[in-house]
Amino acid sequence: MAYSNAQKRTARLAHRMRAITIKGSRCESCGTENHRILEFHHVNGDGKDDVQGSKLAYLVATGRRALDDLQLLCSNCHKEVTYDGGPA
Ligand SMILES: [Zn+2]
Repeated sequence: MAYSNAQKRTARLAHRMRAITIKGSRCESCGTENHRILEFHHVNGDGKDDVQGSKLAYLVATGRRALDDLQLLCSNCHKEVTYDGGPA
């Protein structure tokens, strides 16, 4: 049986919340705990060679992805570290 779009969305959200919990549930820079704006930052490079978004959250949530090169940041702090290659 195929999963409905609603079931896929629910599963994606569960993986995302699990991944965020594993990484400490707060922005590692400013400390916000608003999970709606938390994102994974690739510490080494731009992450273009890695999976992104819901696939990355799935791998983190299921323990199939090492965490040492990932940082949990809010979208503001994420933008600050990636904009023009980093902080001024
Ligand atoms: Zn932040």
